[in-house]
Amino acid sequence: MTQTADTETSAGTDFIRAIVADDNRTGRFGGNVITRFPPEPNGYLHIGHAKSACLNFGLAAENGGHCNMRFDDTNPTREEVEYVNSILNDVQWLGWDWGDNLFYASDYFGELYEMAVDLIRKGKAFVDDLTFDEIQEYRGTLTEPGRESPYRERSVGENLDLFRQMRAGEFDEGSRVLRAKIDMASPNLQLRDPVLYRILKASHHRTGDDWVIYPMYDFAHGQSDSIEGVTHSICTLEFEVHRALYDWCLDALEIYHPQQIEFARLNLTYTVLSKRRLIQLVEGGYVNGWDDPRMPTLSGLRRRGYTPEAIRDFCERIGVAKRDTWTDIALLENCIREDLNRRAPRVMAVLDPVKLVIENYPEDQVEYVESENNPEDASAGHRSLPFSRTVYIERDDFAEDPPRGFYRLSPGREVRLKDAYYVTCTGVAKDEATGKIAEIRCVYDPETRGGTSADGRRVRGTSHWVSAEHCLDAEVRIYDHLFLKEDPSDLPDGGDFTDNLNPDSLRTITAKVEPSLAEAQPGDRIQFLRQGYFCVDLDSAPGAPVFNRTVALRDSWARRRG
Ligand code: ATP
Ligand code: MG
Repeated sequence: MTQTADTETSAGTDFIRAIVADDNRTGRFGGNVITRFPPEPNGYLHIGHAKSACLNFGLAAENGGHCNMRFDDTNPTREEVEYVNSILNDVQWLGWDWGDNLFYASDYFGELYEMAVDLIRKGKAFVDDLTFDEIQEYRGTLTEPGRESPYRERSVGENLDLFRQMRAGEFDEGSRVLRAKIDMASPNLQLRDPVLYRILKASHHRTGDDWVIYPMYDFAHGQSDSIEGVTHSICTLEFEVHRALYDWCLDALEIYHPQQIEFARLNLTYTVLSKRRLIQLVEGGYVNGWDDPRMPTLSGLRRRGYTPEAIRDFCERIGVAKRDTWTDIALLENCIREDLNRRAPRVMAVLDPVKLVIENYPEDQVEYVESENNPEDASAGHRSLPFSRTVYIERDDFAEDPPRGFYRLSPGREVRLKDAYYVTCTGVAKDEATGKIAEIRCVYDPETRGGTSADGRRVRGTSHWVSAEHCLDAEVRIYDHLFLKEDPSDLPDGGDFTDNLNPDSLRTITAKVEPSLAEAQPGDRIQFLRQGYFCVDLDSAPGAPVFNRTVALRDSWARRRG
């Protein structure tokens, strides 16, 4: 089911860019390109929203136009200021700038109301006394036409009066709505006299108690686009069936008419991208908040260690297409690997430590070896690492009884401790109770300082290490996919998507890390040599860093799947 980049639709050549280029050529919108990014402030932005933001802001920038940041805040019961603030922060973090063009659909409530009055005057809208359930029932189905409401033929005067009373708060919630008068037999259900306004006696985060009637999405969106002079109103495929209504409203109102264009939303394997479900994960305590590093939210990805550059690169690589597909999460992981490979300094950290004692190294001696910060970046420089008689190495860098093809340390074998010395294993000491290796014993060759031998003797294995006396204990959080299935909504009847959660999506360990990391600041991104990319978490305290694993060095999941 998975696919990666859609090569025929890479940035620059996708069908939306082709439409825009065509419009520019024909002068349809006078050569203007004005887009908008319209989140509803009812949750945090996720990686799917990043696709939409990159498309809208990117398209405008490429064409010398601009993209409006617009909150689609027409439903006061689900929206909160916390969400508004997080969304603004995330869009900025992604690197997009709306300049002065920050708008709220709620800014247009007055104008939208006047537009509704205009529709009533034109005989194109009426106040209906049917309940929501009755409206549903009258609507018909895809195969059966709907029935007209008994209130459909009210006079313009009566409709104007009733709508004014709705606005004045004279009716109860649910008792009346304003509907467009279109066609109850239309094959497109959206055109069967859709509801334009409903009564909601709820405070709005911006307009307070000024309004007790609120426009529906379909009435607010196109008119907001029109008010703002948007040229290309880009939305996801599920709005394709709404386009006829989008067009109908603008035509009926006889106002400036933008072009709605639909594209396929992002579906990402092992991930849910629906705010409703993400809210369930947060509220159900399945994750530790919206910015849990396992969440596909931009705040979660940021805390995980993702860079805005990697996310924008991902959005460019997936391209824009008209048909629904799945994108392999491995593509997103590759984008951050590539970015951090160039940028992140490399350090030594031992995630599953075992002691290695160098028998012929003087007891109290400490020397400093030089280590390169990033071989991919000559300007990154070097740092000094303390080396001493006892170091930690990874437990799986040693095998008492090495299988074929194992070139790391084992009894009698010589390996390199990176940037330090060659060591040869002389034996092991075991914990009597558990039989587990308690320490590895070895001798070193003082002639191999820096990790090279003057006589040209080669070793096949190189281990990273930290000095036992100097290293720091650090909490490390190892993340795996949040869901076990590529499609988390693949469920037996009656199942819930939370049944597909991966019980091992977070594993916390204590690692031994090199002392330079005492200075690490929350948000710092580094590579633990041979392990992966890590980011310093907010939960860190001075001298006690906590690390999130952003991504392993290679796609171990793909290997496990075979
Ligand atoms: P959700 O289904 O997650 O609740 P939504 O569409 O209700 O998303 P909005 O806040 O209305 O969320 O979305 C803002 C913009 O982002 C819209 O233009 C929407 O079409 C787009 N968008 C939302 N989800 C995705 C996605 N998975 N891929 C691409 N664009 C998306
Ligand atoms: Mg929406």
